[in-house]
Amino acid sequence: MNVTILGKIPTTAEILDRYPLSRELAELKARRDEAIRQILTGMSDRFLLVIGPCSADQEDAVCAYTERLGRLQEMVADRLVLVPRIYTNKPRTTGEGYKGILHQPDPEKAPDMAGGLIALRKMHIRSLSVSGLTAADEMLYPENHTYLDDMLSYVAVGARSVENQHHRLTASAVTQPVGMKNPTSGDLNVMLNAIYAAQRGHVFAYQGHAVQTEGNPLAHAVLRGEVNRHGLSQANYHYEDLMRLSQMYLARELVNPACLIDTNHANSNKQYAEQPRIAMEVLHSRRLSTDIRKLVKGLMVESYLEEGSQSVGEHVFGKSITDACLGWPATRNLVLNIAEQV
Ligand code: PEP
Ligand code: MN
Repeated sequence: MNVTILGKIPTTAEILDRYPLSRELAELKARRDEAIRQILTGMSDRFLLVIGPCSADQEDAVCAYTERLGRLQEMVADRLVLVPRIYTNKPRTTGEGYKGILHQPDPEKAPDMAGGLIALRKMHIRSLSVSGLTAADEMLYPENHTYLDDMLSYVAVGARSVENQHHRLTASAVTQPVGMKNPTSGDLNVMLNAIYAAQRGHVFAYQGHAVQTEGNPLAHAVLRGEVNRHGLSQANYHYEDLMRLSQMYLARELVNPACLIDTNHANSNKQYAEQPRIAMEVLHSRRLSTDIRKLVKGLMVESYLEEGSQSVGEHVFGKSITDACLGWPATRNLVLNIAEQV
């Protein structure tokens, strides 16, 4: 193989030993995990909001954002559970250039995986301490999941990964809810197959071992819109889409039917400012149909301190370097509106 070994990556045990989660934060996580489990199993009618920047590239800005979100959570605690997106593996679409904080703790410096593992643990621990909110991350590389497993309350499998066996099998070992996104093609069967696979136990190879998993009853759907063969985005959050998913879910042997609607990506055609309108339409559809109300348990929103996006070299504090996001004032309004209307 055409490979140069650059260095050894610290093991999960070594990293956790150096950057452990305190008992107090572990207890906080257990309480939040239970609150989210109750939403996804239909035991609670609170609504889940997975919300935050597309990629978490800068610790200070991410923590300033999640601290504000933490204060907002207190205001809406009876209606909403807020889970910040702290996506540490987020690459650019082609995989060229920035690959996320795991690969590049400094987006302007050379890749440094060992430094990245430390940077992402430090960021998650600091964010949790200042906000009181356990976070969501996307499982881009299943083998790396163990470095953050003890801190996350939500895991997403992205549109480009949802067809991949290693992601599906690893999701079957995860105890947190795993949101399976529809693939970019929009084929909902692919997403439901991924949920089916994740909900069952499997034997497979993981981190150099043969392992047996138990299955994840909290694996569920995330609708993110689709892209047709001409490269045009098409939404899948409308009333008819949600009814169709509800019927497809019931026709399968799946436990805890649940769905989050991603208000950005192909649902907004990456027009980030459309997200509040899309959120309100979804809440409206939930009011019109009990089937939709039962199925749609939350939203995924892309938001940061500053609205829009920038290129890596621009250095605007709290502005996305991947997908464009809502800014803070619009985010605050949206969260308060959702809490009022849900
Ligand atoms: C994202 O959540 O930022 C993302 C890129 O999602 P998707 O996998 O749906 O494209
Ligand atoms: Mn994104």
